[in-house]
Amino acid sequence: MADTIAVKREWADGATLSDADYRAGYERSLADPEGFWREHGGRIDWIRPFTRVKNTSFAPGDVSIRWFEDGVLNASANCLDRHVAAGRGEDTAIIFEGDDPAESRRISYAEALEETCRMANVLRADGVKKGDRVTIYLPMIPEAAYAMLACARIGAVHSVVFGGFSPDSLAGRIVDAQSGFVVTADEGVRGGRKVPLKSNVDKAIAIAAKGGQDVSRVLLVKRTGGEVAVDPARDVWWHEARDKAAATCDPEPMGAEDPLFILYTSGSTGKPKGVLHTTGGYLVYASLTHAHVFDYRPGEVYWCTADVGWVTGHSYIVYGPLANGATTLMFEGVPTYPDAGRLWQVVDKHEVNIFYTAPTAIRALMGQGDEPVKRASRRSLRILGTVGEPINPEAWLWYWRVVGEERCPVVDTWWQTETGGILIAPLPGATALKPGSATRPFFGVRPELVDAEGQVLDRAAEGNLCIADSWPGQMRTVYGDHERFEQTYFSTYKGKYFTGDGARRDADGYWWITGRVDDVINVSGHRMGTAEVESALVSHKAVSEAAVVGYPHDVKGQGIYCYVTLMQGEEGSEELRKELVGHVRAEIGPFAAPDKIQFAPGLPKTRSGKIMRRILRKIAEDEPGALGDTSTLADPAVVDDLVSNRQNRR
Ligand code: ATP
Ligand code: MG
Repeated sequence: MADTIAVKREWADGATLSDADYRAGYERSLADPEGFWREHGGRIDWIRPFTRVKNTSFAPGDVSIRWFEDGVLNASANCLDRHVAAGRGEDTAIIFEGDDPAESRRISYAEALEETCRMANVLRADGVKKGDRVTIYLPMIPEAAYAMLACARIGAVHSVVFGGFSPDSLAGRIVDAQSGFVVTADEGVRGGRKVPLKSNVDKAIAIAAKGGQDVSRVLLVKRTGGEVAVDPARDVWWHEARDKAAATCDPEPMGAEDPLFILYTSGSTGKPKGVLHTTGGYLVYASLTHAHVFDYRPGEVYWCTADVGWVTGHSYIVYGPLANGATTLMFEGVPTYPDAGRLWQVVDKHEVNIFYTAPTAIRALMGQGDEPVKRASRRSLRILGTVGEPINPEAWLWYWRVVGEERCPVVDTWWQTETGGILIAPLPGATALKPGSATRPFFGVRPELVDAEGQVLDRAAEGNLCIADSWPGQMRTVYGDHERFEQTYFSTYKGKYFTGDGARRDADGYWWITGRVDDVINVSGHRMGTAEVESALVSHKAVSEAAVVGYPHDVKGQGIYCYVTLMQGEEGSEELRKELVGHVRAEIGPFAAPDKIQFAPGLPKTRSGKIMRRILRKIAEDEPGALGDTSTLADPAVVDDLVSNRQNRR
């Protein structure tokens, strides 16, 4: 294990927070949450200031979460108007980088405001009212941000659905959100390939109608100009409606607890949940975390590679950065197109200072070697971030050494769709780093480790990760199903929010996320997180990615089943299999020795890039007929290969 990396002098110089600021602020945020959040609630603009700060209860049967509840504000005015009013209208709000490396564009705050107002007026003219749900199914183009902000402007609730989802998945979300309006594009483009968005929407609308939800309006953005069917009674071209719409639109005064958006979780563990976030607390939290976790400084270019279809895109491409007046980069393409050097080429092209991506991308690029990275100078980079899955130390160190050349702090940020913003992460100028650790809780966040019986564990320990009290960015309910909300998050450990993740706290009080609690395996009485075995496998030079699950074992209770993707140019042989078993034994201990190793050209991932271990578990258990909901799978073909090459046939 690599040593602790101390805060470097150049990270601390000019940082938004020092270590002393963090310690004092954190202590105060727990001792006096009212005072702390009253102060920080003031970082955004209120149409009518709040007087009440926190009114929350995790009590069984009576979970209710309200922040700043008597305040009135508008999220789009906070993200746009106030920067223009402050004379920063000509600053760049969005840098758009197209799928095609020849296409890019800078959009000022003034322009983003005008486009948002026009779209808000078009939506209103089409009958969208305050509280209505609008489904957004768009590629990563600036219109996706305008559509979100236009909804926020008129008080409509957006439900963004990632453009990679199938008509069936889209229909399910339209029905669940009872959404009668859709904003989409003719086609998207990713990695040079067209995505038939409008045709998917047409299919989804037909499916949704059978499910009892009619869609009366589709606002259609022209992206590629490809041939699409247009129903004149229902579909409206954005470019035509836009020119007729007024360029200004008064922001609707919204209560702090009025809904801002619904977003469905990734579906890694089962049926996606319609997470509902409200306006005031969410915006305060997204803005404060963005400012400090990324140590954002005025004028810097900030790039988060997520899609707006995920919560990371909501909080850290759109709402957080724009509320802070930052320049946020929106990238339409994929990391490997036209080649594996694309991300770093974009970093150089736009002189990106802060870069935020997912472990899945880091591991995939690591598998392609260092050369594509080294082709770019990356001199502008100052901070590197990661989110989405546990990052194994090997990938962390590659990111740190090769991408950041040991100059840039790596911030591993742990959070969830449900949490609205980052809960555990280092602060660049304040926190010493440990590769693979999300380090310390953010202000106001009270993580706790709880054992299976609900006992709170103190000091260094490993257990189930709960949060003991509310923070402003917390989800308020599962849309239309408050009972499922209480059941899912508050029934396992009474009076606490249960995250579903496992974690370890070390002797320095640092937090290590060990993965989902379902992913803990018990081999002959030894409990271990699958992430630990995966890290050991990935630290072998031939391995690019690994996923580990347990399966029933006559002698040990559970056996260790490993799916291993090799580095480019490596061959999966019996010899390598033996070598990997020996390697894990040496790294962790003999009890962790893999029982089965399956070489897999690809792993089943959600469309947000997370490994779906529940599918791997079924294959390892030799039950390929019981894979469950696979609608959020990125590439179903991967599963066929895994099933036909499974190693545990009865
Ligand atoms: P579902 O809830 O539908 O199963 P999901 O949990 O994958 O899907 P998200 O809300 O997108 O949906 O992901 C949150 C989860 O991702 C966390 O609970 C955790 O398991 C994992 N995660 C996110 N960031 C990190 C991180 N920095 N380190 C470790 N795990 C992380
Ligand atoms: Mg989850």
